[in-house]
Amino acid sequence: MAIASHLHQLFNTETCQAYIHALRWKDRPLQCPRCQSHHVGPWGTYHYQPGLQRYRCKEQGCKRTFNDLTGTLLDGSKRSLAHWMLATFLLCLSCSSRRIARELGVHVRTGYRWCWWLRNAALSYETHRQLEGTVEADDLYHIAGHKGQATGGGKKALGRRARGRRKKREPGRGHYDKDRPAIIAWVSRQGAVVLQATKDFTVQTVQKAAEIAVRTGSRLYTDSASSYRAVTGYMHDFVNHTKKEYARGDVHENRAECLFSLLKPYLRVFRGISKTNLPGYLGFFQFLRNFRQLTACEQAEMILYAALDPSVASRARKGEFVKCLDHFDLLQTARN
Ligand SMILES: [Zn+2]
Repeated sequence: MAIASHLHQLFNTETCQAYIHALRWKDRPLQCPRCQSHHVGPWGTYHYQPGLQRYRCKEQGCKRTFNDLTGTLLDGSKRSLAHWMLATFLLCLSCSSRRIARELGVHVRTGYRWCWWLRNAALSYETHRQLEGTVEADDLYHIAGHKGQATGGGKKALGRRARGRRKKREPGRGHYDKDRPAIIAWVSRQGAVVLQATKDFTVQTVQKAAEIAVRTGSRLYTDSASSYRAVTGYMHDFVNHTKKEYARGDVHENRAECLFSLLKPYLRVFRGISKTNLPGYLGFFQFLRNFRQLTACEQAEMILYAALDPSVASRARKGEFVKCLDHFDLLQTARN
């Protein structure tokens, strides 16, 4: 029998509170989360949450109290701050939500919800990323079906035979409607990456995807797929894989292919992803790659910093950052 079955038992409550307090007000002025007034002062503490400072807004007509967690993603949670900090840390080590729930001793659904919120908070760093300079591009088709998409939980009437352990691959190029959407990776030679899930790989989609991910006028290196060759607005060069040409001097897309070799094992951890959730997972992987020089602990701190911002927290709960990165309707927008 283990003496400590969960790591959060070894955390000191006051240290956690002090850390969250420092992170909450770091580079952000102490202000009332309701009327944004800076006319606030300390107003005692809570005896059930040691170390949590309470404040009171002194503005006429407001006079309400708040604390370090009011309006943040952690607001209203019955679990301790140590739970949240560990969950964020494990998320950055690419653990699945079930694994995190097990390690923390919380319910699977709590783990899933937290992961989804925290991933959303991380996406707030990625919504406006655009690459420039020399950019490599490559595409991949990932199997993504309807996992967990039954309305009201339980099993969904599929209207077809269950596919068994795993969806079998159909021949040819993938498509969203065939449960095999395309993923396009844009990798800057300066290091930044952008990943997009798109419904298909037509000329219009790739053109629109390029305009979102890469600044016009940049240099673009791809393979010889016709959709890339039709892209306009970039200095474009490509290698011909069918002629066994993988690099011609500076022209190659090995970084983009390397990114996929990292993405595949990352996605495998989740044992199948529904196509509606794919953009969220890709966006989080993009965040992890773009801040790969940081340790998981430092990445977790970035996510917690975003989660402690009330404006980010409310958008993260609604999943608005995923919507910014969801490119499945790309073709429709391109046609309009
Ligand atoms: Zn106020």
